[in-house]
Amino acid sequence: MMNFDESLRKYAELIIKVGVNIQKDQLLMIKAPIEGAEFARKLTKCAYDAGARKVYVEYHDEELAKITYSHASEEALGEFPSWIAKGYDELAEKNAAFITIAASNPDLLKDVPPNKFMTYQRAAGKALENYKRYITNSDVTWCVVSMPTKDWSKKIFPDYSSEKSVEMLWDKIFEVNRIYADDPVKAWKEHTDHLRTKYEALNAKKIKSVKYTAPGTELTVTLPENHIWLGGGEYSSKGIYFVANMPTEEVFTVPHKYGAEGTLTATKPMNYGGTLIEDFTLTFKEGKIVDYTAKKGYDMLKEIIETDEGSHYLGEIAIVPHSSPVSSSNTIFFNTLFDENASCHFAIGNCYPTCIKDGAKMKKEDLEKAGGNTSMIHEDFMVGCKELTIEATTVDEEVFNILKDGEWAFE
Ligand code: ZN
Ligand code: ZN
Repeated sequence: MMNFDESLRKYAELIIKVGVNIQKDQLLMIKAPIEGAEFARKLTKCAYDAGARKVYVEYHDEELAKITYSHASEEALGEFPSWIAKGYDELAEKNAAFITIAASNPDLLKDVPPNKFMTYQRAAGKALENYKRYITNSDVTWCVVSMPTKDWSKKIFPDYSSEKSVEMLWDKIFEVNRIYADDPVKAWKEHTDHLRTKYEALNAKKIKSVKYTAPGTELTVTLPENHIWLGGGEYSSKGIYFVANMPTEEVFTVPHKYGAEGTLTATKPMNYGGTLIEDFTLTFKEGKIVDYTAKKGYDMLKEIIETDEGSHYLGEIAIVPHSSPVSSSNTIFFNTLFDENASCHFAIGNCYPTCIKDGAKMKKEDLEKAGGNTSMIHEDFMVGCKELTIEATTVDEEVFNILKDGEWAFE
């Protein structure tokens, strides 16, 4: 590992310049775990160097949050302060950029009743609806990144001391984010260019439906007529190129809300804000989840699916080759940001409106009419494995493999 300080500086610079692509005089909001103060300071310094006007940092203390979920009444958990939501709306209106450092302890909420946590989640989701629209429509630039925290690192590397496991996780994070490349900014440009050739090829094919086959998985998904494949970076509605997830290895689009038929088997655990859902399956009929099983975390899975009407349907279909750098690191991260980039995945809930032609300008009803699902939530789950084959049928009835045995199978 190269000098840690130097790597951290390069990582911060990459997030500011390529991730949110901060513009002169722009506001920036950083959401960081309290263990991430040093990293948040580095990001802040980098942002000012790049011309940011003002940087705000909001620290999240997950242990404190756990005390709140355990002790506050369900009624109190359902009250989300409007002044917090207004703060986010105001920043979004002023075209601020948003960085979220996602680093939750996968076992945090083991002993908290799922319904109490979900009451809080639903209240927050509702209050932050307006702000979330800015995000999913790419009306502002945003980026989700990560950093190790002690509890999370220990979960990934249980045989090592806390200090050592944090060090090992930093190393993985730097590696999958191409920080060890001579010029990480340039390496990212090449990477996003490569993803562009893939999604442009898929867009040119005009796919009607895709069929997933793998152990425990047999599913056909129809795609809306005007779907758009995306990947890597994208342009905000103000024309700023940004990368919303770091790392990102996926090419993704929107499935037709009523177009899923069959069963999916998850290939990795899903960490829902501190609860692990493991070994689960979902069965779909006319797009709707009609049956589901889980060996672990069933109650939480139920809460997620029962969030609202849209949480019974798919909102994202994403392709990641099995040999992606995140996957090759042979690590289960118990964190969606990493695990989704190691594996083909779907999301339950809201679609990305930018994946439908003119979708970002559509009203909810029109988006639904175009085939896009809407929900308060968007939760990824992984289905990729080395046996996965995805066969596509185009509108012209051409049949070809997108993936064969987990790897890209078309030019
Ligand atoms: Zn995705
Ligand atoms: Zn997703």
